[in-house]
Amino acid sequence: MGDKVRYGSGNDAVLRWVLYNAWGQRCYWCERPTDFNAIQIDHLLPKDARKNNLDDLKRAYGLPNDFDIHDPANLAPICIPCNGRRGKGNRVYAAVPLILGRFETAREHRDTVIQQVRTFGASMGIAEHLLAAGQADLHDERVRTAFVEHAPAIIQRLALVDETKVDFLTIWYVDVTLEDEIQLSIGVSLNAHGRAAAQILENMCRIDLERVLEERADELVGQIREGVREALEAIDGPAGPPTAGPPVVDFIRIDIDSLGYQNVGAAVEFTFHGNFESSMAASLAQTSPDGSDLLELQGDAVVFGTFSFVVSWHFSADPADAYTGECVIEDWKPDLSTTLASWRSSS
Ligand SMILES: [Zn+2]
Repeated sequence: MGDKVRYGSGNDAVLRWVLYNAWGQRCYWCERPTDFNAIQIDHLLPKDARKNNLDDLKRAYGLPNDFDIHDPANLAPICIPCNGRRGKGNRVYAAVPLILGRFETAREHRDTVIQQVRTFGASMGIAEHLLAAGQADLHDERVRTAFVEHAPAIIQRLALVDETKVDFLTIWYVDVTLEDEIQLSIGVSLNAHGRAAAQILENMCRIDLERVLEERADELVGQIREGVREALEAIDGPAGPPTAGPPVVDFIRIDIDSLGYQNVGAAVEFTFHGNFESSMAASLAQTSPDGSDLLELQGDAVVFGTFSFVVSWHFSADPADAYTGECVIEDWKPDLSTTLASWRSSS
């Protein structure tokens, strides 16, 4: 590895691993937790941009002319689907504030990334082998046999050094259909404790996880809609607050981040935590200050938030008797805007 830590200067696998961890094991574009094997390195300023275009972009983002596009300040981990969507000729550079935020995050991570890649260099021999093993192509029969034979020894040693490290997230998606034909793929990422909870929930209590998620997601979407409507109706207009129609979902993402379980008396209580992101639109109506005109506006809302809900099961209970508590939104950040759609004179 050369002196300078940058893309293409040595072991990009190490760089990829360090970036992946610096960005919280998430794709920087869709922000979903992602398996390391599905992570690639992305250039915020595209490495395939033509010289002129690149200079324009540097100016637009207030970057110095000698900004090195292969420097960690321009690199971030991206998942394969997002990288595909952002593919050549299809890159979106219109959302300037969004990109600026990502440059800021990349800059924040820069020193850590460089330092960690260098530290990695000192123990490169073993690190490189372990990384390679972690990404072994398990479709190859011989590789898989070797992996199954030798990997347990590594895990055992790891447990001896630090038991808490023998944990990892598994990520899977549950496809559900909500009211109004909304198709949704709920991401579920669970650690060892969460996986144990899911096992107990499904195998011992015989509760259908998919159905629980579908019902709670439906409820959650309803609550977000209601919250958006209330927030839009609280906007202070020229003639007081407007009335809002039912918000329509443009986009919604719901992910489950953790699942815990504990004994409460003669029952097991499962606690789900998750986060969501959504954009919704609703039509608003308002009369002008003198009461003569009716204004029609479109209200848009972008919301992020976290939620939780509890499922409890009594030891003597039938699966049908499992009690599911109401979904509770814990944190809520609506970002609202309105645009004038039309106005009608009522006189
Ligand atoms: Zn992504």
